[in-house]
Formats: sequence, structure tokens, C-alpha cells
Amino acid sequence: MASLYKMPISKLSGIGAKRAALFNKLGIYSIGNLINFYPRTYEDWNTVEKIENLQYGGMYCIKAVLGTPISDARISGGRIISRGTVYDDTGSLQIVFFNNKYISSMLKGGQEYFFYGRITAASFGSQMIAPTFSLASEGIRIHPVYKQTAGLVSKTISNSVKQALALLPKSINDPLPEQVRNSFGLCGLKQALNDIHFPKNEECLETARKRLVTEELVVLNLGMRGLKEHSRGESGIKIKKDYSSEFEGFLPFALTNAQKNAVSDCIKDMLTKKSPMNRLVQGDVGSGKTAVAASICYTVVKNGFQAAFMAPTEILARQHYDTFCKLLSGTDINIGLLTGSLKESEKKIVRQELSEGKINLIVGTHALITDKTEFYNLGLAVTDEQHRFGVAQRAKLLGKGENPHLLVMSATPIPRTLGLIIFGDLDISVIDELPPSRKPVKTVLMKAAQRKKIYDFIKSEIKSGRQAYIVCPLVEESELDDAASAEEYAAELMLKEFSDIPVGIVHGKMKSDEKEAVMQKFVSGEYSLLVATTVIEVGVDVSNASVMVIENAERFGLSQLHQLRGRVGRGEFQSYCIMVSDNGNLDTKARLEVMCMTNDGFKIADEDLKMRGPGDFFGERQHGLPQMAIADFADTKSLELSQKIADYILFAYKDIRNEELRFLKAEIDRLFERGGQNSLN
Ligand code: ADP
Ligand code: MG
Repeated sequence: MASLYKMPISKLSGIGAKRAALFNKLGIYSIGNLINFYPRTYEDWNTVEKIENLQYGGMYCIKAVLGTPISDARISGGRIISRGTVYDDTGSLQIVFFNNKYISSMLKGGQEYFFYGRITAASFGSQMIAPTFSLASEGIRIHPVYKQTAGLVSKTISNSVKQALALLPKSINDPLPEQVRNSFGLCGLKQALNDIHFPKNEECLETARKRLVTEELVVLNLGMRGLKEHSRGESGIKIKKDYSSEFEGFLPFALTNAQKNAVSDCIKDMLTKKSPMNRLVQGDVGSGKTAVAASICYTVVKNGFQAAFMAPTEILARQHYDTFCKLLSGTDINIGLLTGSLKESEKKIVRQELSEGKINLIVGTHALITDKTEFYNLGLAVTDEQHRFGVAQRAKLLGKGENPHLLVMSATPIPRTLGLIIFGDLDISVIDELPPSRKPVKTVLMKAAQRKKIYDFIKSEIKSGRQAYIVCPLVEESELDDAASAEEYAAELMLKEFSDIPVGIVHGKMKSDEKEAVMQKFVSGEYSLLVATTVIEVGVDVSNASVMVIENAERFGLSQLHQLRGRVGRGEFQSYCIMVSDNGNLDTKARLEVMCMTNDGFKIADEDLKMRGPGDFFGERQHGLPQMAIADFADTKSLELSQKIADYILFAYKDIRNEELRFLKAEIDRLFERGGQNSLN
């Protein structure tokens, strides 16, 4: 039998080209995809209400016989309204459907059904609007509700899933071997797939869910370990001498104790361990991670190897490049910059010099990991703001050398259990101390009506020599609006409020060299005020800036606000963060007030996690992990269980390439988008 992942959904009856396109919109192309498209939620039809007890406005499940066949009537605009009367032993009720020309053939007069829907008042009594339904004889009481899209309703999806499940072979290739399932009390895959879509009761649903969530996390877990596997062996990068104190001499400041500890952790890894360094340096915004990374780069380079420093944005890469050039200007170290916006001819030269070993330290963006980039002898790979990269990208950078050392920098605190997966075998150094003379940023929440006051404040700060940011969030989802709004807003400000102050604008729609030019002018002090969209969110470092105004603050997540606020208070000056919001929602207010109460990034992340859950917390998949079909990263228990099972599997079967694990291996390859055969064959 051909793989169900290779069978297009149009093979199912009732799915033509048009409907198939709608399924595609939901990310469903094959029958296999459809089977893995798990319900978003369920309607619990377990409490069946009698018709006489129904109240207006409530959602109910009733068990009733359709008395009269459904009759269709055309109303204005060519729309169809379909009506029928149902009854049970306590009364009768009208059911109504809109614009569903199939309904009259789906429901048969004289048959008993479950109907589930909302009760509203009608001129003749009460009615149930567009209920979902199923034959009473089927007895299923928990109904799947799928994510829908315009033109494709949950009921249609559910019908198609029913067909798809019927295509599953009698015996299915289960990724989890029987021995593993038995040891950990997990049901078989076929049962799980049937029950996740159409559970007979809560218990079946729970059993199915547990099995599928666990499998997905085990697959993720083992896949992540696989990514790291290659770095397990002995490192050929022999670091013999520690140059960190020499490097400290170049710095215009003394390292904090926390920075020193992080540096010495790294040096110890490289000097004493057989396997390469695998270290995460975690520290709040402004804690000085760059200096730590630079120090390690310096030691590696002085030992005769190349170091690569990868940043998530062009601006950040350029800024790090400038910092390194300044710090190391008196040395013989040759520093290069490689970003996407360089001219092809420039890139070519940089790549040439890199592959010949003429460049010792390269700073760059994703351009560092393209196939074209080759190193002479990469000894250390550093990724800055790790949450912005996929784990696969980190692995790719490592692959540019022969088992090089790895240093990962991150400001995003990650729940421990999830951290175990993402960072697995990484050792962690925490920078839990800010450089001295930092004053906590004073944070206030203000209303748009107080804008005049805010502007006056900005002006007075600028007058005394400081600089300021105003951040406007994306107005709509589209970048176009984002560009337009930031630009319009800035233009307006320049004309009116800040006519005698030089204002720069950056937004996502600008070409990176344009952005760069504006940022550069802000860094050099030519612009006193920068109006920006979130492109300045990570890493940018202008220590003279003392005011951060965040418009429509309610639109940002707490961790994002904290990152934004981290752009000020980076120097000796008292700094201010002014969040502007007119949103009256109490939850929103509570969220923003957390910002006013603390400057501690870890506390804020905790609150954020509590209030929103990790899905939102991490934003656009900022953890860099593959998309999950059913597992939830907030589900600590399942994360822990999957960890245990992954350990067990590697212990019991020795190697993931073991023949008995071939279907599990296939699922890992599929999750990490490496194709291959899998269980729904
Ligand atoms: P982050 O941890 O957010 O990446 P950076 O490395 O950009 O922080 O450092 C923030 C600012 O603090 C920079 O301007 C940097 O020069 C400065 N800095 C770093 N370490 C120290 C220190 N020990 N003493 C004083 N200033 C420092
Ligand atoms: Mg940084």
C-alpha cells in the first residue's frame, strides 16, 4: 500500500479540486496529513438535555427525531435557509441552517439524531441554529471540532477524517515498539488515531492524547539528540592557552564577576575537556554577553583557529562587527563581516578570505551558514540571541568545522523542561548580575491623551544630550501598513513636534542598507530620536539613549516589551520606559503593570508564561523547534515522560538506527523535514 502521505486528499470522496485547495490552506495535502490534523477541541455531548429544559442563549445537546424532512427556501441574495422540526418526549423545536444546500440530503425524516447547538428565540418559540449532528445510533458523544477555514467547516473535515481513518491498514507500523508501549502504558497508534478524532468517551480520548503527545515529544527529543550527536566525539580543536586576561586589557571596563565566571567556564571547557565546548550563556538584556563571547573568540583565534559569530539580524551583526573592530584594533586579528546585504562581489571576497584563513574572526547573519561559505579551520561557533535561530541552523554552523566549540548566547529564559530539549546537553552559565552603575529603568504606563507631556519629556532629555526611541507596533499584520504607519507617524512628528530635532526612521520594509544607514546615524548621535517598528527589538546597543516610548504597548508580549526596554538603561544615565496604552482590559493592564514593577527579565518571563502560555510566549516559534501537531510545550509532565522514554529507547536499543526503530526513525526524519518512509505506509 502506498504511503498515506503520498496519497492526495482529493482521493477521498467529496473532495474535488476546489475543496482540496481549501484543505491545502490548512496545511493538509495528503491523507496522512489529514489523519495528523487533530481536533482543535471537542464538544462534549454527554449531557443530553430535554427540549422542555432548553434556555435561550445556551449551547445544548439534544437527542431528537427529525419529524418533517428538511425544507429549503430561498431568501434574498440567492441564499438558502433550511428548516426542519425535531422532537423528543418533552417537546419540539425548530432547527435552522443557512446556505448549506447539502443539509436536506444529509438529514433524513424519521431518524433520531444528536443535535448540538445554540438556542435562540424565534417568533414561534425557540430554535436551534446550525447545529452539528450525528446519528443517535452511532452513539458518539464527544465530537471533534477542527480548525476551519472560510468555505471549509469542521463537519466536512470530520467527514473526510472518517473516510481517511477507514483507509488505515489493519496493522499499522507503530513508531513506538510494543516493548516501549507496554513499559510506559501507552496504547497503539491505530487506536490512538481513531480515538483522538472520534473518542467514545473521555477516557479513550485521554489515552489517545497521552499516546500521541508522548510520541511526538519522544520523536522531538530523539531528533534533537541526533542533531547534537556529531559534537559528542573528541574535538580536534586543541585550545592550549587562555588569553582571556589579555583580552580584558582591551576592554574599556572591568568585567563583572558574573561575566568573569562565564568566561572561565568556557575556557575550562575548551582547555580541559576532550569533547568540544557546548555552552549556553544566559543573561538578561544588557548583562554584557557580547564581551564574554568576544573574549572566547579572542582566545580561540589566538590559538590559531577561526571563530564565527552569528547574529539574527543585519543591524546586530554590523554592530557586533563594529564593537569587535574597535576592541581589537591594536591586535593582528583580522575581522570580517558577512551579511546578506553585501554586494555579491564583496561577499565573494569575504568568502575567499575566510576559506583561506585570512579572516580570523567572522561576524555575520544567516549568510554564514549558506553552502557557499567555507572556513579554513573553524574552531568556535557563537550564536547570539539563540531563540531567533532554529536548532537546525545552529547545527549547520557547527557543520562548517570539524567538531568546533559551541557557544550559545540567549536572553530568553526558558522553562527548565523545555530547555532540556532545546539545549539538551548544553552546559549553562548564567550572568545574573548587571554591570555596575546601571540604574533600573523607570517604567510608567500612560494614556495617549498624555502624549503632550511625553513629548515634552523627550525634548527635555534630548536637550540634556540624551537620545530617545519611539516604537510603533505593526498596525495590521502586513508589512506595508507597518512601513506606512511608522513613516507617517515619524513624518508627522518631524513636522510638528520635533521640527528642530533630527529624527530617524527605521521600519521592516526598508532595505537593510537603508536601515543600516539610519541606525548608524542614531548610533553616532546624528539623530537624537529614532522612530521604529520592532526591528530594533533585539540587541541594539546605544548607551546614550535614555527614553523608550512604546506606542500601543498592549500589542506586545511581556518578553518583547522587556527586550524593547532593554534598549535603554545601558549606560550611566537614568533611563525611562514609557508605555502608552488606552486599552482598558484588566488583564492587559495587569500585564503591563508587571513591567512597571520589575526589571528582572526572568521574573517577567515567568509572569508572561503564566499569563499566556509558552505558545504565545515564544512568539513566532521563537524557540526554533519544529511545529508540533498535538504536543504542548507547557505540558511539563509529558515533557518529562518523553525524556524518560527517549533515555529508555537509547538504552534498550543502543542506536536509533536499530532495525526495530525504523518507523520511529522515519517519524524523526519527517518532523525534521528530512522525508523518508514512515508509519502511515
Ligand atoms: P547583552 O547581554 O544584552 O548582549 P551587551 O553585551 O550588548 O548586552 O552589553 C550591554 C552594554 O553594557 C554594552 O554597551 C557594553 O559595552 C556594556 N557592558 C558590558 N559589560 C560591561 C561591564 N562589565 N561594565 C560596564 N559596561 C559593560
Ligand atoms: Mg546581545
